[in-house]
Amino acid sequence: MIQLKDKVIFITGASSGFGEITATKLVAEGCKVILGARRVEKLAALAEKLGPENVAFQEMDVTKIDNVRSIVKLGLDKFGVIDGLVNNAGIMPLSMIASGRIKEWDQMIDVNVKGVLYAINAVLEHMLKRGHGKIVNVSSIAGQKVFPASAVYSGTKFAVRAISEGLRVETAGKIQVTNISPGAFATELGNSINDAAIRDSLGAYEKIVQPAEHVADAIIFALKQPPSVAINELTIRPTAQEL
Ligand code: NDP
Repeated sequence: MIQLKDKVIFITGASSGFGEITATKLVAEGCKVILGARRVEKLAALAEKLGPENVAFQEMDVTKIDNVRSIVKLGLDKFGVIDGLVNNAGIMPLSMIASGRIKEWDQMIDVNVKGVLYAINAVLEHMLKRGHGKIVNVSSIAGQKVFPASAVYSGTKFAVRAISEGLRVETAGKIQVTNISPGAFATELGNSINDAAIRDSLGAYEKIVQPAEHVADAIIFALKQPPSVAINELTIRPTAQEL
């Protein structure tokens, strides 16, 4: 495995959960990080903690391609290169199809699918010109299995897996592509569930969820592979999780 010192990593959805802890651990390894999310005040506090010289951050809505291109430019202006992308921003407003929460379907597709594509688009030309780059797309166990209320969320995460594989075959020899599928870990993700009954039904997971730092460690393991090797698929669950 390689050292990540001085590598520049762009993380979408860095204001909480996996993104925040991955940023923290990467800076501890000597990386520079480019952090985007909508809650810019959380990014500002994180940048202060991690050392402003190590961080470029900006308010970014991943559903807006101009926002994503703008933060990539900010990062390139500050650090000169982008070595890796952790394509992590996501929402999970689970609900039954019959509930017809069309606005939530639109949002999920915009953030979880289009947002992933936009972030890839914003860095890929730069990486291909350099001849190398690392892209870790955050899918989910829900990108491998479908359960009641997960149809649309699972659809977006199956899509992330398909996009990861497509990117891998199209950029073979240059881009190290990883699709990571986490199970249930403790983050703010459940807050995006607006259907009270579904939210209550997930209470059982509270007993088994594990700290988000385990997923950050797995992401960093993927980033640490030498350029000639890529961990293409990585599934990580709490041992107690059956689904
Ligand atoms: P959090 O809710 O803690 O983090 C989600 C992050 O995404 C936040 O930083 C949020 O920032 C950001 N985000 C949401 N919408 C947007 C947007 N429109 N533009 C930019 N950023 C956005 O949850 P997790 O850390 O758990 O989620 C990270 C990823 O992990 C997601 O893709 C999720 O689907 C996936 N995942 C999580 C699992 C878990 O058990 N926790 C399991 C499997 C997958 P802000 O609101 O400030 O914009």
